[in-house]
Amino acid sequence: MSAIETTPTVVHARGLWRTYGADETAVAALRGADISVFGGEILAITGPSGSGKTTLLNCLAGLDSADEGTIDVLGTEVHGLDYEAAVEWRRQNLAILFQDPGLFPYLSARENVEISLRIRGIDRATRKRSTTDALERLGLGNHADHRPIELSGGQQQRVAIARALAAPPKLLIADEPTAQLDADTSLLVLDELRGAVETHDLTVIMTTHDPTAQAFADRSVRLVGGTVLDGGTASDEVTVSDQEAQ
Ligand code: ADP
Ligand code: MG
Repeated sequence: MSAIETTPTVVHARGLWRTYGADETAVAALRGADISVFGGEILAITGPSGSGKTTLLNCLAGLDSADEGTIDVLGTEVHGLDYEAAVEWRRQNLAILFQDPGLFPYLSARENVEISLRIRGIDRATRKRSTTDALERLGLGNHADHRPIELSGGQQQRVAIARALAAPPKLLIADEPTAQLDADTSLLVLDELRGAVETHDLTVIMTTHDPTAQAFADRSVRLVGGTVLDGGTASDEVTVSDQEAQ
């Protein structure tokens, strides 16, 4: 039996095109990209700079709209959501890690994590406990009261990861989550992702240039020139031969 039959598909996106600009300045960031992601896996998306990785993640998260194609994420047709519905859908289902940690500058590490739990309606006692636990697991127990300006880039990135995982979502979409981290800290973060996958049935999609992160993933696909190579589904051979047949 193939993985498709045994594992629920969390992401099923087909034929995604996204062009920025118009006429001679137009850039086709996605050119018919297909991708499938299965429940409980860590999928790495690799590919050269400018190949469309961030654009693809933004489209999957409903932060950007593909010009063509269909995107089903967790049973929701993301391409059909209006702005308000997309915001609510993300709040309930997703955590997103951008390349920029995006912390509130006047809030401490602890407050930055806690505020995201508050937005999700989590009660005060659970917020407090989950925030402390997440910061400690990411090695930031002694930095909980520091503001972003008092933290290194890597520490800020770890606060953002603690924020994403303090109350694990169904799907984590992460753009180069280990790019700013040293080797030991990368492993700490990847272990944390694996722990959340195993304990909370989280699914992870991450773009990465980091060979350690790629090796750590359950599966990887490669984006080149806005097209997914190496198969966008678990049954790579079928997908590649299907594409060639068309
Ligand atoms: P990657 O994340 O793989 O480096 P991106 O998705 O960021 O690639 O970019 C893919 C292509 O689309 C690049 O040529 C980039 O310059 C272009 N691009 C991305 N976002 C925009 C935008 N908002 N406006 C114009 N061009 C963009
Ligand atoms: Mg990018």
